[in-house]
Amino acid sequence: MFENLSDRLEKSFKILKGQGMITEINVAETLKDIRRALLDADVNFRIAKKFTDDVKEKALGQQVLTAVKPGQLMVKIVKDELTSLMGGKFEDVNLTGNPTVILMSGLQGSGKTTFSGKLANLLKSKKGRHPLLVAGDVYRPAAIDQLKVLGEQINVPVYTEEGNMDPVKIAKAAIKEAKNKGYDVVIVDTAGRLAVDEQMMNEIAAIKKAVDPEEILFVVDSMTGQDAVNTAKEFNDRLDFDGVVLTKLDGDTRGGAALSIRSVVEKPIKFVGTGEKVDAIDVFHPDRMADRILGMGDIVSLVEKAQEQFDAEEAKKLQNKLAKNTFNFNDFLKQINQIKKMGNLKDVMSMIPGMGKAMKNMDLDDDAFKSIEAIIFSMTNEERENPSLINGSRRKRIADGSGSNIQEVNRLLKQFTETRKMMKMVSQGKNMQRVMSGMQ
Ligand code: GDP
Repeated sequence: MFENLSDRLEKSFKILKGQGMITEINVAETLKDIRRALLDADVNFRIAKKFTDDVKEKALGQQVLTAVKPGQLMVKIVKDELTSLMGGKFEDVNLTGNPTVILMSGLQGSGKTTFSGKLANLLKSKKGRHPLLVAGDVYRPAAIDQLKVLGEQINVPVYTEEGNMDPVKIAKAAIKEAKNKGYDVVIVDTAGRLAVDEQMMNEIAAIKKAVDPEEILFVVDSMTGQDAVNTAKEFNDRLDFDGVVLTKLDGDTRGGAALSIRSVVEKPIKFVGTGEKVDAIDVFHPDRMADRILGMGDIVSLVEKAQEQFDAEEAKKLQNKLAKNTFNFNDFLKQINQIKKMGNLKDVMSMIPGMGKAMKNMDLDDDAFKSIEAIIFSMTNEERENPSLINGSRRKRIADGSGSNIQEVNRLLKQFTETRKMMKMVSQGKNMQRVMSGMQ
């Protein structure tokens, strides 16, 4: 996700390498590069300009901090600005209704129906809710079937009314049913069109008026860049929605929608969709996303994902090992097995600091770990437990044994050491700036 943007931003920081402090002159080139990177990522022109103006002001205002290198300082400033551009803080859905009604809006193909299923699954499995899905797309029988299939998959009931072509009546009846049967969240999927049209807007506005939802979510395909932002504006003008869902962030998304939508419509991004499967959903944390955009990984989300898979005992052991710096290759193997269980590999790997870039050109599938595993399997147990033993001749033996070469073994050892160092700092609660300076 956002690989090109990440690369470009990283290059722009390099310009400042070797400079003693940030000045109007030496920062100009960096800012120009940042602006170009944002524009190429399909960020709205005005937003890109304001962004670099703000970064410049902050950077020049901080000249006195000579203890921090300009490149690092710039990374920090850009990170903070990216975070605030995407809304600053995490905003959850409002679940205070009785039942809570969540209305889905968005164009056809944006991923509305898929997301309705994902959200129902998340609320059920993580928040102990009892959702009811409502098939409000009355024009496409396929959409109703799609929702039914999803509902079966996640074991959530789907309310449909064969032959009823009035989504307002269906939504109202579904809420009544929820009250009778004790469902506490009603998720209403609605009909989309390929482009914004008046009839669709009237229809969804009528549903809104009739059911007075706690939460209206606008679902949009992040691959559509500036179009996503324009569509968001039209929907918001009409519906005054509460939050945005950005889907298809697993694809080749440049980042424009994620970075522009918030400041154009002034509504928070609340969720992202990262795949076609029902568990490919993340809540949106602006700061974590900024970390990922800057190629700094997203340790917090990674740990959360891991926690969902690990049992508490294992997690505690791991945390201890990380803090004491005794994490070794046997643990690494265990982690690989856990990661394999965590789903979309490329997505998971990109959360590891420094890994996003390393993974960029790799075609990741379930065999992606094979060569790493082969190298680790070629180590003796002693070497796995104590990687510092692995000297030159051992490296050669390991390379030969695993059918790889010395460079690959070296690369794995280096990545392992760096990740371990980083994890240790993070687990000890060092602040971001210290962690970043450790990375340089
Ligand atoms: P709707 O017309 O808005 O209800 O859209 P659908 O839910 O039918 O989704 C349209 C297509 O996008 C389907 O093929 C989905 O599998 C796919 N899709 C939805 N969300 C995601 C996502 O986050 N990532 C990817 N890669 N595909 C998605």
